[in-house]
Amino acid sequence: MDFVTAFDPELGRMIEAEYKRQARNIELIASENIVSEAVMAAMGSVLTNKYAEGYPGKRYYGGCECVDEVENLAIRRVCQLFGAKYANVQPHSGAQANMAVYQALCKPGDTVLGMSLDNGGHLTHGSPVNQSGLLYNIVPYGVDENGLIDYDALRALAKKEQPKMIIAGASAYPRAIDFEKFAEIAHEVGAYLFVDMAHIAGLVAAGLHQSPVPYADVVTTTTHKTLRGPRGGVILTNDEELAKKFNKAIFPGTQGGPLEHVIAAKAVCFGEALKPEFKAYQQRVVTNARVLADALRKQGFDLVAGGTDNHLMLIDLRKTGVTGKELQRRLDEVYITANKNAIPNDPESPFVTSGMRIGTPAVTTRGFGAPEMLRIAEFIWQAATDFDNKANDIRRNVRDICANFPIY
Ligand code: PLP
Repeated sequence: MDFVTAFDPELGRMIEAEYKRQARNIELIASENIVSEAVMAAMGSVLTNKYAEGYPGKRYYGGCECVDEVENLAIRRVCQLFGAKYANVQPHSGAQANMAVYQALCKPGDTVLGMSLDNGGHLTHGSPVNQSGLLYNIVPYGVDENGLIDYDALRALAKKEQPKMIIAGASAYPRAIDFEKFAEIAHEVGAYLFVDMAHIAGLVAAGLHQSPVPYADVVTTTTHKTLRGPRGGVILTNDEELAKKFNKAIFPGTQGGPLEHVIAAKAVCFGEALKPEFKAYQQRVVTNARVLADALRKQGFDLVAGGTDNHLMLIDLRKTGVTGKELQRRLDEVYITANKNAIPNDPESPFVTSGMRIGTPAVTTRGFGAPEMLRIAEFIWQAATDFDNKANDIRRNVRDICANFPIY
């Protein structure tokens, strides 16, 4: 950071401001985390200088002998971590990984079942404004009145629609997903099962959520959420023929040269995730989420699906009279960062919403435990119900707590 500031003071000031914001704020965005210094250093390494179109041993450029080793290391480690036979570690993001899966397994116009965005799915699972929704015939499924996936309804929908592919996985689903059941349904109708485990990958790696790898035809993940690595994506499969298709769909299908510096940082992340400390960290993430969910309910909030089995929860704000947009603004003012989120059948627009998604990966990395979870629940309740009187108090308390838990 000092180097950038000395070399380019204008940009340096911006990066330092962001560092101070991260240190000052309580980070509750469920998809964010705080990477290790080794992950960051790998991303800032000389590997960024190298072009390496193709795959290890089969590149379109010379001088790839070192990056070949880096990429093979990342592949080896991620396969060991998730018990998969084949991995592609080149996707620049989760969205890129997902689009490559569509390209490899479907033709434009094919029918695909995906969880709708307003019920917890991701944009790339078929939203009409995303390439997935523009190119494929998406039939959305959602959750029942209890906020849970209804597997019988899903099976009936799959039988009726005869899809080419079913997507399981979500961005805002607080309960465990039964991937074995998903596979049973998909294979019963001759569809591929594609699991996007982006949010829960860290929990899966630690054995705290059922792994989709033994059941799905293909699994994608991001590397920067619970997995706590650099921003990026991965594709996993146990099927050799499908693995070849995914490789083709990433390069030359949807990407050019891989980001070998990011792949190196992915290798660091997978190495960290293979250590026992990582399992203990994920256990704390899940415990903190349960403590926070219970405390929020005790404060008076309703939670979608009644609570959480994973690292995130979705507050249903309807009875408080405050919208997701307004609560997000209030929390920003008191240095708590979270995101508004639609709840199932939300009466508000996606830009306003009646929900707030919060997660524990980043605060757990920082060292927060049960006492801090109880305080956070109190702050959020005060912000929702008595903001004008309590704002200064919350801000002061947040400052004190964060000062005790440096991010680096
Ligand atoms: N899949 C899921 C389930 C996600 O929640 C996200 C991002 O939030 C993505 C894919 C996309 O990842 P990226 O932002 O890296 O494209």
